[in-house]
Amino acid sequence: MTEAGEGPLRILVTNDDGIHAPGLKVLESIARRLAEDVWVVAPETNQSGASHSLTLSRPLRIRRVSKRHFAVDGTPTDCVLLALQRIVEGPVTLLLSGVNQGSNLGEDVTYSGTVAAAMEATVLGVPAIAISQACRNGHPVKWRTAETHAPGILRRLWAVSWPEGVLININFPDRLAQSVRGVRVTRQGKHKVGDALVERIDPRGQPYYWIGALRREEEWPEGTDLAAIASGYISITPVHLDLTHHQSLTFLRKMFQDDTESDRH
Ligand code: MN
Repeated sequence: MTEAGEGPLRILVTNDDGIHAPGLKVLESIARRLAEDVWVVAPETNQSGASHSLTLSRPLRIRRVSKRHFAVDGTPTDCVLLALQRIVEGPVTLLLSGVNQGSNLGEDVTYSGTVAAAMEATVLGVPAIAISQACRNGHPVKWRTAETHAPGILRRLWAVSWPEGVLININFPDRLAQSVRGVRVTRQGKHKVGDALVERIDPRGQPYYWIGALRREEEWPEGTDLAAIASGYISITPVHLDLTHHQSLTFLRKMFQDDTESDRH
């Protein structure tokens, strides 16, 4: 990472929980502590689990909610696309996505609309940070934890520039702000073993299915995002959009080398 250039910040705030989500207000207040020029463009409805999906089969509508606040009837990716190319006046210098209600750890990153919004900005050349607040179902969300610790962390991240195609995924632990143990820079872990599937019968006698709670492993290696959050640390993970497994390239190239040779004849 290198030192970033100085200049006025223009922050775009989005999320996947929707325009009415409490975490969006939290993130907007975090953004306002970093910059005066803050724009909010978020989905009309909850898009959690939308991943990096684009709406291609129907038109999209932009609804102006108030000054510099817009709702889009699409996915987080749609929001970022429209915000950067149509809504925000002038170039965006930083995209913040969240604060998601619930952590985005391990494989969650591949389902997350919160992280996907940061991916879309990264694809379009805008530095992006995804922010999530861990919580437990049925318990109040400790928004103050993200609200207290995020500004300092974001300022430090903004002071450097990270490589092309890389976004930052930050998770805050399910602890009160004063009980947070510190910051860990982590790698993406792995926890999913399956999903609890709920099967019921609809009023017409047909079965339907509802994807329920994540079934997950309970122990994780040191150095992962999962281990950091479980032990009360803030987790910062650099996520690379290039999904290539570079160590496999040599092996696979060698394996298919002969095929390429014979193609020439
Ligand atoms: Mn969400």
